[in-house]
Amino acid sequence: MQTDQDQSIAFDAANPVEDRYAAPACGELDEIAEVLRDGRLSGGASIVAIYERALSNWFGSAHAVAVNSGSSALNAVLHVLGVGSGDEVMVPAVAPLPTALPILAAGAVPVIVDTLPGSLAFDPQDVRSCLTSRTKAAISVSLWGYPVDSQDTACILAEAGVPFIEDAAQAHGTLVRGRYAGTLTLAGCFSTHDRKLLSSGEGGFILTDDNDLYLRVEHYTRLGHLRGTLGVNYKLAAPLAAIGLRRLTELPTQIAARRSIANRVLTALPSDGRLAELVYSPNSAPNYYNLVLTSGEPNALLTEKFTDVGLPPDSVRYGYRPLHHQPLFRSWARDCPNAEALTASTYQIPVHPGLSDAVIQWIVCQTAEAAGKERMS
Ligand SMILES: *Cc1c(COP(=O)(O)O)cnc(C)c1O
Repeated sequence: MQTDQDQSIAFDAANPVEDRYAAPACGELDEIAEVLRDGRLSGGASIVAIYERALSNWFGSAHAVAVNSGSSALNAVLHVLGVGSGDEVMVPAVAPLPTALPILAAGAVPVIVDTLPGSLAFDPQDVRSCLTSRTKAAISVSLWGYPVDSQDTACILAEAGVPFIEDAAQAHGTLVRGRYAGTLTLAGCFSTHDRKLLSSGEGGFILTDDNDLYLRVEHYTRLGHLRGTLGVNYKLAAPLAAIGLRRLTELPTQIAARRSIANRVLTALPSDGRLAELVYSPNSAPNYYNLVLTSGEPNALLTEKFTDVGLPPDSVRYGYRPLHHQPLFRSWARDCPNAEALTASTYQIPVHPGLSDAVIQWIVCQTAEAAGKERMS
């Protein structure tokens, strides 16, 4: 455990705690060898269909389509929904770039909507005020794997006939009122990039219960099956499907490990301190892509403190900020005070299974101290 101890005191602003989890090999080599023996490596191999069936079973959705990235998943769904030049797509102001770039890729206009106070969910009132005859879709995002409860927004959009979709790229296994994120709307778009809880290196998938949408997404992402209709090649290669298939079996273990680490951090927080977990609905649970703590109001000193000790929030680590502060999206800026406050008052804490026990204990102490407790017992 000596190395753990060494590791635990080595963090600072220049050497932050690793927030990426590199999963150890868990049998994928056998799966890949099987694919190589079979000799069919493309997205047309039967392993891809097996992977899709495993995904739809795991999440309890009628259909899954495997694609080559989470961005491709979003691009494809927007395309089959008919989103094109001049159409408007609503996106919450807390959305990161990868959620919103597909709107621009479709040639559509992003409509940046404010969130409810202290929440990642669309503000239903702002949604209502942004609706126009050109609104073609709305994308909610379960950022950091946190449950996003959008029941009111879903009703408003349904009334207006606007398709509602989810960017669940970070939210594998996140529960929202007893249902999995990514299965709450017309379509859920997931990524299996290395950084996500289910990883195939690069990759993604789409979940939907809508048979018509499924057929159109499947067709579009596979070159229109070369029948002469418009299509792109977003297929996932067979070796990556094999990795995803194997790692899907590890997902529950990984989520459980993250929940247990997050719980250690949360239990040690003083109940009357400066920090609390980002609030979510009852009967819901984050997958803890990150543990997200909030100070309620923007607190530059806390941001500085977390950064100095080696636990930089995403605003520092990745330059995360409200979407309309990104140069590319500035021309669509709207007044979004709740989203502004949230991005300046949240602190993302790594709780992945790659952290040693000593590092976890150190994180427990650092967060409790930052929250206002003098000394750990
Ligand atoms: C990773 C991610 C994406 C894009 O997924 P890729 O597989 O990298 O294309 C989209 N949205 C969010 C929130 C993400 O975290």
